[in-house]
Amino acid sequence: MKIVVQKYGGTSVGTTERIKKVADRIIKKKEAGYHVVVIVSAMGKATDELITLAKEISDSPAPREMDMLLTTGEQVSISLLSMALIAKGYSAVSFTGYQLSIQTTSLHQKARIKDIETSKVMQALEENKVVVVAGFQGVSDDNDITTLGRGGSDTSAVALAAKLGAECEIYTDVDGIYTMDPRKLRNARKLDVISYEEMMEMASLGAGVMHYRAVELANKYKLPLYVASTFEDKKGTMIEYGGQKEMEETLVTGMASSLDDMQITILNLPAASTTLYKLFGEFAEEEINVDMISQMITDGGNMHVSFTIPKDDLKTAEKILNRWREETPGIQWETNTEIAKISVVGLGMRTHAGVAAKLFEVLAENKIEIKMVTTSEIKISCVIDKAFEIQAINLIGNTFGLGSELE
Ligand code: ADP
Ligand code: ASP
Ligand code: MG
Repeated sequence: MKIVVQKYGGTSVGTTERIKKVADRIIKKKEAGYHVVVIVSAMGKATDELITLAKEISDSPAPREMDMLLTTGEQVSISLLSMALIAKGYSAVSFTGYQLSIQTTSLHQKARIKDIETSKVMQALEENKVVVVAGFQGVSDDNDITTLGRGGSDTSAVALAAKLGAECEIYTDVDGIYTMDPRKLRNARKLDVISYEEMMEMASLGAGVMHYRAVELANKYKLPLYVASTFEDKKGTMIEYGGQKEMEETLVTGMASSLDDMQITILNLPAASTTLYKLFGEFAEEEINVDMISQMITDGGNMHVSFTIPKDDLKTAEKILNRWREETPGIQWETNTEIAKISVVGLGMRTHAGVAAKLFEVLAENKIEIKMVTTSEIKISCVIDKAFEIQAINLIGNTFGLGSELE
C-alpha cells in the first residue's frame, strides 16, 4: 500500500476557503493512487491567540494547562478538514494525538515523541479513509496531553511517516527552501535540494520553515522530505542525504537569522574549574538550550561568562541566576534582548578556509560590531545588534552569492 503523509501548516489552513482547497489537493493525491495521512497545524494564528489568552490570565501559565489549551487549536483544524473531505464525497476521519497514542516524554511544551501506535491509522486507511491527524501534540505516560514546541507539526508528520514507512510532503506558504528567509533577503534563491545536515543547522539557527527536530528525525530514518507550496503547483525542495550535487564548489549554501535569542552576561563568578559545568548543568536540567558561550578570566581571578539562550526561557533562567546570586554573593548579571544571531551554513566549509574571515571583513567594513561568534565544521554564527539585522543579511547574502539578480 503506497502511503503518503502530507503536512499543511497554519497559513495553509488559515480560513475555511483554504481548508476546502487543501481538501482538493488531498483528493488529487488520493486519485493518483495514494493512501493519504494528513497532519495539520492550527488555523492561521490560532496558537498565538491562545497564548495571548493564557497570558491575560497569568504571567507564567502552568505548562500542563498551556498544553491542554494549545492543543485545541489543532482539534479545530482536523475536524474542519475532515468535514471538508466528507462534504466532497470522500471518507475521512480525524484523530487527536491522544486518540492515536502519540506517546511523548512528559516535559510540557517541549515534549519529544517516543512512539506512535499506528494500528488505528492503518485500519482507517484500509477502510479507504483519509486520516487527518492533529500535529504538534501527544500524550505522556501519565496520560497528560503534551505539545512538541512551536512549529512541532513538522515533527509529527515526519515521525508518523517514518513509522508508517510512508513518503513525506510538507506543504507551506513558501514554495520551497530558500538560501535565506525570502521575507528578510528579497532576492534569496530557491534550492532544488539541501542536505539534512545543512537543513538541521539552518533550522536550529532560525530558519523557521522547518522544525529542527523534524529534520533530525528525517535524517535518522533517511526519510527524504519534499517541501513545497500549498497554493501553487511549483516544484519545491528536497531535503535529503548528500544535498546539492555541486557541493564541492558551494562554500555557503544558506543563511539564517534569529531574533529569538538573548544574551546573558554574568560578572565575577568564581574562576573554579567546576563553575561552568555546575552553571550550565543547571540550564541543561531545565532543558534550556545554551548556545554561544564566551568566558574571560579577570585580573582579580574572577570569571565573566557571556552566553545566549532562547528569550522564552528568560523566566526559568532568572530563577537559576537568582539562586546563584544567593549562593555566591558578589556576582552580577545583565541581559540583552536586542540582539540578532546571523549564521551562514554550508557543507563546503569543511574543506575550505576563509569563510569566517570574509564574514568578519564585510561586517567590519560596514561598522557592524560582532558581539559573539561561534563556529562548527559547517556553520559560523555572529551575534550583532538587532538594529543591523537586515543590513547584515543583505551584505552577507551578497558576499556569498546567496541572492539572484533582482528584476
Ligand atoms: P507553516 O505554518 O506552514 O509551518 P512556517 O511559518 O512555519 O509555515 O514556515 C514558513 C515560513 O518560513 C515562510 O513564510 C518563510 O518566511 C520562513 N522561512 C524562514 N527561513 C526560510 C528559508 N530558508 N526558506 C524558506 N522559507 C523560510
Ligand atoms: N500550531 C503550532 C504552532 O503554531 C504547531 C505548528 O504550527 O507546527 O506552533
Ligand atoms: Mg512551521
